[in-house]
Amino acid sequence: MTRTCDVAVVGGGIVGMAHALAAARAGASVTLFERDERAVGASIRNFGLLWPVGQPAALRGRALRSREVWLDVLKRSGAWYAEVGSLHLVRHADEQDVVEEFLATTPDAVEHGARMLTAAEVAERSSVATTDGLRGALWSPTEVNVDPRTAIPAVAQVLAADFRVDLRFGTAVRHVESGRIDTTAGEWTADRIVICSGNEFQALYPDVFADSGIRRCKLQMMRTVRQPSGWELGPTLCAGLTLLHYRSFAHCASLDALRERFAAELPGHLADGVHVLVSQTADGEVTIGDSHHYGITHDPFQHETVDREILDYFATFAGLPRPQIAERWHGIYPSLPTADADLVVSPEPGVTVVNGLGGAGMTLSFGLAEEVVGSWS
Ligand SMILES: Cc1cc2nc3c(=O)[nH]c(=O)nc-3n(C[C@H](O)[C@H](O)[C@H](O)COP(=O)(O)OP(=O)(O)OC[C@H]3O[C@@H](n4cnc5c(N)ncnc54)[C@H](O)[C@@H]3O)c2cc1C
Repeated sequence: MTRTCDVAVVGGGIVGMAHALAAARAGASVTLFERDERAVGASIRNFGLLWPVGQPAALRGRALRSREVWLDVLKRSGAWYAEVGSLHLVRHADEQDVVEEFLATTPDAVEHGARMLTAAEVAERSSVATTDGLRGALWSPTEVNVDPRTAIPAVAQVLAADFRVDLRFGTAVRHVESGRIDTTAGEWTADRIVICSGNEFQALYPDVFADSGIRRCKLQMMRTVRQPSGWELGPTLCAGLTLLHYRSFAHCASLDALRERFAAELPGHLADGVHVLVSQTADGEVTIGDSHHYGITHDPFQHETVDREILDYFATFAGLPRPQIAERWHGIYPSLPTADADLVVSPEPGVTVVNGLGGAGMTLSFGLAEEVVGSWS
């Protein structure tokens, strides 16, 4: 028997679920197919940071819209989250130069509350940041900390309960063509099919991906033991290396001097793409990462030298009551070789491939999905 829906979505990570939500909100009947019994891809392996401050000005609106949708979904589900903002800690003159240039040249971030804090103001907001040698920090109030391991299932729960999305976990999609989708649970017809297959981009419409030059980025991550009862991270933390990483800072001419110093002082960190972000989980553990290695095929191993670089850099700017590491893992996301924020392609009528959000899928997916679904009408 062939079943039918208005919109079929392939992939139960954040990108697929965001498209399911946008389509259901637009009035469509939606069926979502996820190969695994639950999402175990990039969407549950990340920091859970909604990070508008890291997005270039052109994407800030999309990031802030995504933030609104996240807050609505999180409130509906009761899942843990913290609207804590972020601190880019500044410990060197060249880091201060970049932050000051960013503030002087990025008016929309300033409009949304970004500003420089003194070391004393940082100490008032964070018990975790090391104040010795601290010059201050870039404060931004827009960042939200979710716990991906609880937030991603919470999105699925809201899709099913509040938006009547038909969730088909444990169902792999074998073939897609205009209007038709063949799965391990049978065949569906659908007016629209959205393919959000994350890393598994070599299976459906492989030519789309080959043409894009997409690669995979492998990232190493760690999580501490639970911190003492009642402990809270407060604002999510990062430091100088992160200024090299996010595209919001890429236009700053003062980055060259910063990069030169890090190339001399921490060449291993630059070679391994290490910058360090710190977030909290629903149970009061702390997630610390990450590194960035690019290629099509990665080894499956966790490299101790890379974890050491991450933890050594973390120790230069922060300290935890209980620093012991309880878990180590890696995540992989597809990454575009260009400055494009995403890959949205229609390989045949009624079929849309959405991928390539790189390290910003949690931050941008809900907003992007509304734009994609809005473009259909
Ligand atoms: C370590 C790490 C840290 C990160 N930190 C952040 C962060 O703090 N903030 C942020 O904004 N972003 C972050 N990101 C990026 C973010 O996690 C990704 O951009 C996002 O999760 C990608 O979502 P996705 O849905 O495309 O992929 P996935 O979550 O991998 O989901 C794709 C799903 O599609 C399913 N699938 C594939 N093919 C089929 C098929 N044929 N049939 C059925 N199902 C199929 C797979 O099983 C998979 O579940 C991070 C990523 C990593 C790896």
